[in-house]
Amino acid sequence: MRWTHLLAVGALSVSLAACTTSPTGRSQLTLMSDAQLDQMGARAFAQYQQELPTVGGAPLRYVQCVTEAVVRALPERERNQNWQVRVFQSEQANAFALPGGYVGINTGLLDIAENQHQLAAVIGHEIAHVLARHANERASTQTATQLGLSVISSASGMQGAGGETMMAALGMGAQYGILLPFSRRHESEADTLGLDLMAEAGFDPRASIALWNNMGAAGSGARPPAWMSTHPSHGQRIGGLEAAMGNAMARYERARNAGRTPNCPRP
Ligand SMILES: [Zn+2]
Repeated sequence: MRWTHLLAVGALSVSLAACTTSPTGRSQLTLMSDAQLDQMGARAFAQYQQELPTVGGAPLRYVQCVTEAVVRALPERERNQNWQVRVFQSEQANAFALPGGYVGINTGLLDIAENQHQLAAVIGHEIAHVLARHANERASTQTATQLGLSVISSASGMQGAGGETMMAALGMGAQYGILLPFSRRHESEADTLGLDLMAEAGFDPRASIALWNNMGAAGSGARPPAWMSTHPSHGQRIGGLEAAMGNAMARYERARNAGRTPNCPRP
């Protein structure tokens, strides 16, 4: 009886402390603070820069120009972060954004994105993952699953031995969580949010479909980018974008009428 009681109280504390709502209204488990995620983002970004050579000059200015336009469309907290951009020399068509304000784009992706609108589709999508706290949610879910009962029984207090174990495990989960591919649900959410973001910034949302078609064509070659393997199927993704396009186009028109007409020519 006592065990069951503990479990119920513990589960309640966890859900009260750690249930947040994503920008699309989905409830999510987020056990870590934004500050913790920002720190992990900074560490992962530094690690990337140690592992891959970076490129400056015109490609960097191009990616910075598009990123700055997208960042201006973000909510206050994220807009006011000091966003850093790096272009990595790599054939792999990859891109990421990390909590704390970090964007990385591989040169292989710059070959696939044909203009500023398509690049904005990529950057909008990646920043949408950050905005929706997907890394926090993924790491939290993994950790909660791994810890099972031990989390629940110590959830009433983060202090004490149980609390330390929990925090250590959270750190471990987060290390994996921040670098792993996202789930399909997260991908769909990032697609929809990213579409709104790029449109709000004054980029043509229809370019997202062209971009993913280019990606699909590149992915059908000998070596599809690894991160695409867990992404939604191509048809699912295009279907989702098309369903959200009406709203995004209205947003795009409003942005243009308000003078948001970014001009970042591809080098
Ligand atoms: Zn994604």
